[in-house]
Amino acid sequence: MSIDIFKEFISSSNNIVFFGGAGVSTESNIPDFRSANGLYSDSTLSKYSPEEILSHTFFMKHTKEFYSFYKSKMIYSNAKPNKTHIALARLEESGKLKAVITQNVDGLHQAAGSKNVIELHGSVNRNYCMNCHKYFNVNYILDSFDIPKCSECQGVIKPDVVLYEEVLDTEVLNASVNYISKADVFIIGGTSLSVYPAAGLISYYKGNKLVLINKSSTPYDNKANLILNSSLGEVFNTIY
Ligand SMILES: [Zn+2]
Repeated sequence: MSIDIFKEFISSSNNIVFFGGAGVSTESNIPDFRSANGLYSDSTLSKYSPEEILSHTFFMKHTKEFYSFYKSKMIYSNAKPNKTHIALARLEESGKLKAVITQNVDGLHQAAGSKNVIELHGSVNRNYCMNCHKYFNVNYILDSFDIPKCSECQGVIKPDVVLYEEVLDTEVLNASVNYISKADVFIIGGTSLSVYPAAGLISYYKGNKLVLINKSSTPYDNKANLILNSSLGEVFNTIY
């Protein structure tokens, strides 16, 4: 059984790295924003796709409308870590897992207790004044009316989230490459592996225990040593 091979990979390794996509968060009822659609209360927004709204250009030009979308579609304050988040935190605590690399911005890995979380796309929990760089938490953003402004200098606050058209942080990418290239077991879950940088990062893995957990097939299935076409929760439920 595939799941037995997975359990054997986990039990025999002390250098596991996990890479997670939107599917990790959807099991906490956080929708993949790429599928965010429907009626927007703000008529400006209905003309744009989520990708356009979550772009650097849109943020700079239509900051108020950006925040209208962002607050309702990107921030889920009541979301709780699920089985996958919790199992990964326990694997780290036991010394088996070295890093979680995530494309999600919700902070649920840290909420589950993970310490070494590499957030490729940043986090909704960090926000900075574009003028004086003062830090603000997510509640400050949620409590703001229209455009969140700095309490010190009235500068516009920007979420520490990588928007479309923005480049990924080099240090964050390098740290990811470093963990992946040294990993014994590399588990990729909840991503179709169709978007940068996930696809590129796979090539840095040099081991022979590449595990893909995804409900549907991915372009990299032929590179995997083990494919589990089930939900992440089902798989990680067998570990803890
Ligand atoms: Zn400021």
